[in-house]
Amino acid sequence: MAGHKHKKQFGQNFLNNPRIIQLIVASIRPKADDHLVEIGPGEAALSAPLLDVVKKMDIIEIDNDLITPLTLRFGQNPAFNLHHTDALSFDYASLLDFDDEMLRIVGNLPYNISSPLMFHLLTYARHISDMHFMLQKEVVDRICAEPGSRTFGRLSVMIQYACKTENLFVVGPENFNPPPKVDSAIVRLVPYQTKPFIANDEVLFAKLVKQAFSQKRKTLRNTLKGLLDAEQIEQCGINPTARAESLSVEQFVNLANLYHQLNPN
Ligand code: SAM
Repeated sequence: MAGHKHKKQFGQNFLNNPRIIQLIVASIRPKADDHLVEIGPGEAALSAPLLDVVKKMDIIEIDNDLITPLTLRFGQNPAFNLHHTDALSFDYASLLDFDDEMLRIVGNLPYNISSPLMFHLLTYARHISDMHFMLQKEVVDRICAEPGSRTFGRLSVMIQYACKTENLFVVGPENFNPPPKVDSAIVRLVPYQTKPFIANDEVLFAKLVKQAFSQKRKTLRNTLKGLLDAEQIEQCGINPTARAESLSVEQFVNLANLYHQLNPN
């Protein structure tokens, strides 16, 4: 695909270091029977070695200019199934060949859509066995952060509520063409098929977490105004003068469930 003009609006930083590509593929550990889904194949840095192994691989690419080259290169491979569409609005359940089939998702994601894309994918969590993503290092740090750390925030709580997270390794800008301005990292997300802590109303849980982190410096007593008062926060065994970043996922679930119990409709 020589001569492809990289498009900034599609976050096109293509991997160009065979050693890093091999490391990523080794972390994914593809097996012949996997049903893989790759988001954003670009010039197939990851797609090619993955297609060498698996029997079924759906590939989602938005850039019109990449569709013909990808089809010419892999069209004869029975595993290859290309979808020329936007990964953000794609219906991933449409890829399932049978009801309880599990998908494995991979992608060196365009950084500008990574959070909404992960949230969209989480709506299909019961059909996903794992996800391996390249993201901005700073985003991976936030996803995997422990409560009490500087980087622990809304994204950490929402992803850790739904998935086991693992920060695998950092990839420097020199491994891409063109090089991005920041470091990247690989994260493994494994959606819980049985969640360790269950929010009885997940929409409300998301709202409470958002509100708790809306003003980082303020205490829970202030940020949760209108949802729970100081006494109710204490009822969950949480100090109302604590800040959101010191709470565990379990404590956020407890707060949301208390609110739900007090306001059943
Ligand atoms: N996988 C390749 C690699 O590692 O070299 C390319 C990765 S590049 C960071 C991101 C890819 O996602 C590009 O091919 C881009 O065109 C594609 N892309 C961007 N936005 C997309 C979207 N909304 N839906 C599907 N693909 C998208």
